[in-house]
Amino acid sequence: MRIVVKVGTSTLAHPTGRLNIRHVEELVKVLSDLKNAGHEVILVSSGAIGMGVGKLNLPGKPSDMPTKQAAAAVGQCELMYTYDKLFSQYNHTVAQILLTGDDVDHEDRRRNFENTMARLLELGALPVINENDTVATAEIKVGDNDTLGAIVACSVGADLLVLLSDIEGLYTADPRKDPDARLIPTVGAVTPEIEALAGGKGSDLATGGMETKLRAAKMVTERGCDMVITNGQHPERLYDIAEGKAVGTRFLGVRTWIGNG
Ligand code: GLU
Repeated sequence: MRIVVKVGTSTLAHPTGRLNIRHVEELVKVLSDLKNAGHEVILVSSGAIGMGVGKLNLPGKPSDMPTKQAAAAVGQCELMYTYDKLFSQYNHTVAQILLTGDDVDHEDRRRNFENTMARLLELGALPVINENDTVATAEIKVGDNDTLGAIVACSVGADLLVLLSDIEGLYTADPRKDPDARLIPTVGAVTPEIEALAGGKGSDLATGGMETKLRAAKMVTERGCDMVITNGQHPERLYDIAEGKAVGTRFLGVRTWIGNG
């Protein structure tokens, strides 16, 4: 199975912006094991800006573009250093790919990206993808990594996109405010009723929220790819998710039935 896993800043970093060592080590271990089991794994990782904030000792997420881009330049380095070191322990080779919205909008550049991805997977590497935050300005940005994860999943024809977030899945109401909110285990189609359930984003360092996740679900399910939202605090759940067991919220990819009925 070809699996794209998107991990958010809330999983990778503490609220201080410093690396959450336990989460990252656990995530790398599980992804390595899934790869050993024969799956193709692609990681879409946020955390560049968040980790740059920690490393530069900034008081919080910057609001101005140059400081955000400077933080991303510092944080992306630390991210890849960490992934390279940890995946190497399990004999896996990582490859860094940094994209902007512009890259995937232009046919030639998108094809180059797809060709590179195909070759990296053939070579057995584990691509780690992020937005190229140091050069991406508002006009050319994808903007959030839920959408970037969906773009990547569609480009590589993935079977499954997993969004590791700070929330268990999609609820009938905002669980931070409503104690009666219930988790929705399966979504067959992203209807306007489902879209109306999107609330705001969870943490200060994070970028996306439920709205960007539902948009991602719409994009990938139309291409026949399943998408799961689950809490990134428990990366070991990826084993069950890969086996199709009920974890978090699963959005079912549209299946094309070929039959005689
Ligand atoms: N590209 C941003 C970063 O690495 C994160 C965007 C997102 O989390 O949606 O900091």
